[in-house]
Amino acid sequence: MYYKIIELSPKTPSISYDETKDLIWHFLCALECNGQILKDYKVIQNVNFMLYVTAPKKDSLNEQHDSVYVKNDREKIGEYFNIQVKDCGINLESQEYCTCKKRSAMEMQTFRFDIDSVFTCCDCGKPIALYELPYPENREDYNDIQLWQDNYAAMDMLWLNCLCDRYTGNQRVKLKSALNKQGIEIAEYLSKQLGYSVYYHLECDYGKSIKAEKVDNQQIHICPKCGKLMKRVKFSEDHERDICKKCALSYDAH
Ligand SMILES: [Zn+2]
Ligand SMILES: [Zn+2]
Repeated sequence: MYYKIIELSPKTPSISYDETKDLIWHFLCALECNGQILKDYKVIQNVNFMLYVTAPKKDSLNEQHDSVYVKNDREKIGEYFNIQVKDCGINLESQEYCTCKKRSAMEMQTFRFDIDSVFTCCDCGKPIALYELPYPENREDYNDIQLWQDNYAAMDMLWLNCLCDRYTGNQRVKLKSALNKQGIEIAEYLSKQLGYSVYYHLECDYGKSIKAEKVDNQQIHICPKCGKLMKRVKFSEDHERDICKKCALSYDAH
């Protein structure tokens, strides 16, 4: 959402060019893995080093959100550089993020060109900054979630480009595909930590296996896990879903 420049101006004593580059990339990677920046960053060297980043929220780069890895890198960089953060405006590729004080549920979903968080708040319909959520099991950052997002985006692109249709299609629509199993494990773990539902969004299979029932002139999906009729809900404007609360699964409502 917020495009920013992190400007690093050298102090003395200085470190070598190669050490500086390693330190900067490590710092950016740690920020990304903690959800404090999105994945579209760039580094430009002028007199100073300019790190162009997109932060999900206005205060995402504040130290209070740092993971242990970001904190370490920030300290190391601070020994050799003055760090100054400047606001540049809004990155239109990214959405506005959720600011709800309390959430009742969230949904996990992504697609090929999505650079935002995979979690959407079911109360306001906006993405949720990762650092506001518990870490995945036995982790101290969100790298597992981002790897799942990368894999999903890659699968989606191959499918959209009509490559290996059966395999890529099945990975997206089948409940037990490796890709969906990995995502569901993450969603289930976070749901336990948060104490509310984290719906894993499944792609509709428009082939023969689509199962739905007509209720009040609407086609409502049958849950692919428990076989019961799902429930039509509106998480926000433009955010209508069929959900199974027990199995924590969701489909687009159509
Ligand atoms: Zn919200
Ligand atoms: Zn179910």
